[in-house]
Amino acid sequence: MNPIKINEAVDAVRGELISPGCGLEIRGVNIDTRQLKKGDLFIAIKGERVDGHDLLEEAENKGAVAVFVEKDVNHKSDMAIIKVNDTVRALQDLASAYRKQFTCPIVAVTGSSGKTTTKDLIKAVLSSRYETIATKGNKNNHIGLPLTVFDMDDKTQSAVFEMGMSGLGEIRVLAEIAKPDIAVITNIGTAHLEQLKTRENILKAKAEIFSTLDMNKTGIINGDDDMLVKIKAEGFKLYKVGVDSKELDLKCMSYHTDMYGVKMRVLEKAGSQIEEYRFRLPGIHNVYNCLDAIAVGKLLGLNQKEIQLGLDEYLPGENRMDITSVKNSVVINDSYNANPGSMKSALDVLKLYKKDDNMLVAVLGDMFEIGPDSETYHREVGAYAKESGVELILTIGEKSRFYNEGAEKSGLDRERSIHFEDKLDLLDYLKSLVEKKAVILIKGSRGMRMEEYIKSLN
Ligand code: ATP
Ligand code: MG
Repeated sequence: MNPIKINEAVDAVRGELISPGCGLEIRGVNIDTRQLKKGDLFIAIKGERVDGHDLLEEAENKGAVAVFVEKDVNHKSDMAIIKVNDTVRALQDLASAYRKQFTCPIVAVTGSSGKTTTKDLIKAVLSSRYETIATKGNKNNHIGLPLTVFDMDDKTQSAVFEMGMSGLGEIRVLAEIAKPDIAVITNIGTAHLEQLKTRENILKAKAEIFSTLDMNKTGIINGDDDMLVKIKAEGFKLYKVGVDSKELDLKCMSYHTDMYGVKMRVLEKAGSQIEEYRFRLPGIHNVYNCLDAIAVGKLLGLNQKEIQLGLDEYLPGENRMDITSVKNSVVINDSYNANPGSMKSALDVLKLYKKDDNMLVAVLGDMFEIGPDSETYHREVGAYAKESGVELILTIGEKSRFYNEGAEKSGLDRERSIHFEDKLDLLDYLKSLVEKKAVILIKGSRGMRMEEYIKSLN
């Protein structure tokens, strides 16, 4: 982070300087005293379990030079104490003011599935030419995004931000802070239907990422997505990527995917030559994620060689399509999260592993937050699993028996469709299963913590 003068921070958030402290400038911004470093600004946020206002002494001991508070505090201190109406809002306002000093390209990514993968692919691609910072892990919300903005400094030549949401108006706030030059929407699925009710509303909420673009800036969409194609390029440039549609700016002409990844041939409308790319993520959904990354690379002037070098550097994140051998089996750990779209993509990948003598197994936990049609979605995924060649379905969680129902209705033998009430029973079953030759996909929503089964298997 580039240093911020304390009086400038006070002005940026329209705060009241209660106590001036001894320092002059802020060298980092933190909301967690455990990670606080000397010279940081500590922002006291009232969380569900911990109230940052109770940690001022600890912040001071760790060397914070300033604090934002929203409550009256009785703390005699060498730190500058700055009172604001709302500390989260102040964090956002400070990030927004901080961002204004940068003229390097900023890329923002949202969508129902594939945000983190696409963000990391874009970071990998851009890093082959530019000093690039990006959202770490999944810090894509109203707190994580502004905190990431402070990772930019004088060395930064491009930045990539992931933007998540659970309701209307949230992405707009993030876009106002980041003011992206290129904004990407990966797809419109069914995640967050609970809050937003319809896919039209999900489209509206995601499209807020384009709200700050102008004619010099570009919105990238998946041109094969039935909802995204409804977006009109009004006031900004629209760039479509895809496989199937006719009107695409970047088209995948053909691809081959196996368990090691994808090889594909790509043609840019503006270009004249077909280019070949390869990357280590399997499945058609990753063709789209990768097209987004290639598109961003091209828009920012990278050539094919640089883009390919970047893709070669990409490493999948934790619990995402992490493929390992356990005893005699292969385990595909995609336990990071799940919704109907990502479940189907993961099953498509599992299908690639079918050989004569191995058994395809799906271990599925509940999908959360998918609205009133949750049971139907679980049934659909169960049916899709059977149609994808899954020979054994093991399920756990309140709604998960609907996977079994769907799979059985599509013809899966009842003995090969097992629902577990107890975690330990499922684990025992898996322990004996890995002795056999099986390929086992493990996936469920974050709250199901499906990765715990894998840890116990090793
Ligand atoms: P979150 O909303 O939790 O931040 P995300 O949008 O960042 O999720 P990723 O973490 O990139 O998504 O991917 C989660 C899973 O979704 C992947 O492991 C994969 O199974 C699936 N997935 C990734 N990309 C796509 C895509 N383009 N379309 C459908 N499914 C996808
Ligand atoms: Mg994510």
